[in-house]
Amino acid sequence: MKLDGLPPLRDVIATHGLSASKALGQNFLLDGQLLDRIARVAGPLEGARVYEVGPGPGGLTRALLRGGAEVIAVERDRRCLAALAELAEAADGTLRVIEGDALAVDAQALAGDGAHIVANLPYNVGTALLVGWLSAERWPPWWRSLVLMFQKEVAERIVAAPGTPAYGRLAVLAQWRATARIALSVHRSAFVPPPKVMSAVVHIVPGKAPEGVRVATLERLTAAAFGQRRKMLRQSLKAIPGAVQALEQLGIDPARRAETLNVGDFVALARALG
Ligand code: SAM
Repeated sequence: MKLDGLPPLRDVIATHGLSASKALGQNFLLDGQLLDRIARVAGPLEGARVYEVGPGPGGLTRALLRGGAEVIAVERDRRCLAALAELAEAADGTLRVIEGDALAVDAQALAGDGAHIVANLPYNVGTALLVGWLSAERWPPWWRSLVLMFQKEVAERIVAAPGTPAYGRLAVLAQWRATARIALSVHRSAFVPPPKVMSAVVHIVPGKAPEGVRVATLERLTAAAFGQRRKMLRQSLKAIPGAVQALEQLGIDPARRAETLNVGDFVALARALG
């Protein structure tokens, strides 16, 4: 492996003219130690397969390769491909780069079952991908873990506890059959250029799926309940046939509001609705 001989990331950015594009949500990480810490969140990487979304100039990719992972990376910005080709050459066959839109490619087909997913993405793309990965009918899913950088505010919504303002659809979706935690906070000054807000890396690991619950039913419930989060459940769930009766059967007071129900309550409700 010739990774040690690669030029500094700053030089790669300058040589290939990779001025950060706002439209593509580009904020690059250049600090090798920080990148190693992020890569390690996935666990031991030696021999592991990693699907990386948005490698950009390849800082996080380098850290994953240094850890011993085999990386399959999807990048939308054609300008980054020459820099990534140099990295692939230094990686001696352990990096495969695909030009494409992560929202459109078939990640499972590209990366194969059991891959970790690692990404530092623009937050709208990251959230859309996260919801897709968490909404899989089959569980455990094809991916082994998710290590994703988000705006801190989004990361807090993913790991939020009941009764807090950040608790909502994303928390229930992330927590009903997986564990979600903030693995590290990343200061805005670590990025080039620095974004306006702080960031955090979220680590999500699939757990056991509760039996008899369809993800589509759970999503319908949380969309209705948190869509009108200030309202009592008897009002916000009115449009879902059987939901208010199910609340009563489960001993959940219909005068409560969505944010007072824990993840287990939503699971029980979804199960009752079949
Ligand atoms: N991973 C690099 C790092 O940590 O320095 C770059 C991070 S930058 C925040 C986001 C990267 O995602 C950019 O390289 C951008 O071109 C890429 N990107 C944005 N939207 C994408 C999409 N839909 N599919 C694939 N890559 C995308």
